[in-house]
Amino acid sequence: MLNYSTYLNELRDEAGENYPLINPHTREEIEEIPECTNEQMETAIAKSLAAFEKLKTWSSAERSEVLERTARIVEENSERFAKAIVNEAGKPVRFAKGEVARTVETLKFSAIEARKLEGESIRLDAANNGGGRDAYTIYEPIGVIGAITPFNFPLNLVIHKVGPAIAAGNTIVVKPAEKTPLSSLLLREAFLEAGLPEGAFQVITGEGPRLGKVLIDHEEVAKITFTGSPEVGKLIKSQSGLKKVTLELGNNSALYIDESQHERLDDIAQKAVVGAFSYNGQVCISTQRIYVHEAVAEEFTRHFIEATSQLKYGDPLEESTDLSALIDEKSQKRLLEWIVEASHNGAEIVHGGKACQNGIEPTILKSVQASDKVSCQEVFGPVVIVNAVKSGQEALAEMNNSNYGLNAGIFTTDLSQALQMSHQLDVGQVLVNDIPTLRFDHMPYGGRKDSGYGYEGVKYAVREMVKRKMISLNYS
Ligand code: NAD
Repeated sequence: MLNYSTYLNELRDEAGENYPLINPHTREEIEEIPECTNEQMETAIAKSLAAFEKLKTWSSAERSEVLERTARIVEENSERFAKAIVNEAGKPVRFAKGEVARTVETLKFSAIEARKLEGESIRLDAANNGGGRDAYTIYEPIGVIGAITPFNFPLNLVIHKVGPAIAAGNTIVVKPAEKTPLSSLLLREAFLEAGLPEGAFQVITGEGPRLGKVLIDHEEVAKITFTGSPEVGKLIKSQSGLKKVTLELGNNSALYIDESQHERLDDIAQKAVVGAFSYNGQVCISTQRIYVHEAVAEEFTRHFIEATSQLKYGDPLEESTDLSALIDEKSQKRLLEWIVEASHNGAEIVHGGKACQNGIEPTILKSVQASDKVSCQEVFGPVVIVNAVKSGQEALAEMNNSNYGLNAGIFTTDLSQALQMSHQLDVGQVLVNDIPTLRFDHMPYGGRKDSGYGYEGVKYAVREMVKRKMISLNYS
């Protein structure tokens, strides 16, 4: 049985101070989390460096095997991981189980990538005077990686950094979100049980700006990989100098449904409900803006409201719960203010709109102004807008009218419409005949504009965690 108590006690003893970890559903304290000191972070970096020297002697097959074993251990402890996610994040248990299953898959993809990290051969004789040489590239690990992670996927978004780091032969220190450190602490135990050297993956809990700055400023940290809000991401980039940086940030994901879809509006509405309201909309690619061709807008909205009204708000530990508490009171207050703003500016609330225990009702707004916060900013809650548009061109303009650019979805059977929009959407990923709330863990995943810098998705994250070296052999 995985247990982080010993490690947590060690951190507590050194930290001296703790902060209360609150269950978002009950709003009760569930754990005392160490507010680690800057010195603890520095010690973790030194241990990480020592572990890197050890990991350097491992073959890619050995790293792959540790990742495979960790995948098995996480799978065997699925219930334990899911419960940790429910308790700390307030995530309904069905979604928490889904996150654990994805984590197992991300680990398996990482195990595969560890064995596939191959360079290429270079034809130097393509250059004048380049002949008489064989040349090739190899990838080398970069060393200690600093990872800073958000609250909403406290396990899978941590493994998206740890898996590729270990696959590439690096070591990693994770600063998890203050509100959700338990899943990463359990994950650390799983890696240790699988045989990863002590120090190769560490978790240091506590305040983001202070501990993050220690990681960012430390000269032995070769890279910062961050997932979180655009504000913090921009700050980290501005502080990171010549360090490698990957930033996975927010979005206000848009979906277009064209007039060709009149026969499957019910099915699309069911999918849109999943996209807009899974984990209370606290998902970076949550479906936030839906544009529907005017010929089918009314019927789609009717199906969408009907499907939304079936959702059950409740205790996240119950299998039947679809929606539950938001991460904190601040989010609840902000969302209610944003709904009021849109409504004052002419939007029609066609479903929900009010507080519901520690969360809010699943909310659908119609005819929203592009300048309202529920449209132009990241909602990160169960609020979605549905606007009718006259054409694909108008939908495209609305979808691109955003500071963000992560995922977008289009439902159409018109091939040229699908291709034209796919080429013109200013986002990292376009999903045709799917909602934008779609990510498979091996696909390339990265945002444009305020949505990010660099790529994740196991293979792509690995490529951002290595140094390329070219070796040329002159045989002339
Ligand atoms: P957040 O930016 O508030 O916090 C993320 C992490 O950064 C936490 O660990 C926090 O302690 C740390 N942090 C805060 N201030 C810092 C600073 N000044 N320096 C260094 N670290 C600092 O984000 P959140 O509220 O936990 O998560 C929600 C955000 O994450 C949303 O914007 C969401 O879209 C984004 N997100 C993006 C993706 C993606 O893959 N693109 C995935 C999940 C979440």
